[in-house]
Amino acid sequence: MCSDDQACSKRSDPVHRAEYRHTGLPDYLIPCHFQDACYDKKPDHPIRFFHGEEIPSIKKHSTLGSDNARKRKLTPCMYGNECRFMKNPQHTATYSHPSSE
Ligand SMILES: [Zn+2]
Ligand SMILES: [Zn+2]
Ligand SMILES: [Zn+2]
Repeated sequence: MCSDDQACSKRSDPVHRAEYRHTGLPDYLIPCHFQDACYDKKPDHPIRFFHGEEIPSIKKHSTLGSDNARKRKLTPCMYGNECRFMKNPQHTATYSHPSSE
């Protein structure tokens, strides 16, 4: 929720709108049919419509188990359980083995 809410001066800023919620307004703007060529100068138009501005992706769920994230990045070792390097921490940090899961 935006702390300024209805008094917010950035309600026509799509980046701000994607990050903060405002009473009576949708989280995301509707893409304007005219985009850059838009001539609609009504003050509430940019508050409701989107004109191709770049919105950085919002970070979500960054608190997911970091251990899980690390495990998912491992490449399955081509030797599987026959691997002779399973005691090598450098190797197991890069490759996953069926027996270690
Ligand atoms: Zn705001
Ligand atoms: Zn427009
Ligand atoms: Zn291996």
